[in-house]
Amino acid sequence: MVKRHTLYEYDYPSGKITLKRRLCPRCGRIMAAHENRHSCGYCGYTIYLKSESS
Ligand SMILES: [Zn+2]
Repeated sequence: MVKRHTLYEYDYPSGKITLKRRLCPRCGRIMAAHENRHSCGYCGYTIYLKSESS
């Protein structure tokens, strides 16, 4: 079960806690978290996360 709107996400296999919401490197605001990317609603900057397909 995944909660979509929490700030932190616990990754069980690796035991890491990651911050889901990232700060935009361009304007410094909190970016919106999506499944495979983070996007900034202010300046449009988008960070694509690594896909898990290998
Ligand atoms: Zn931005």
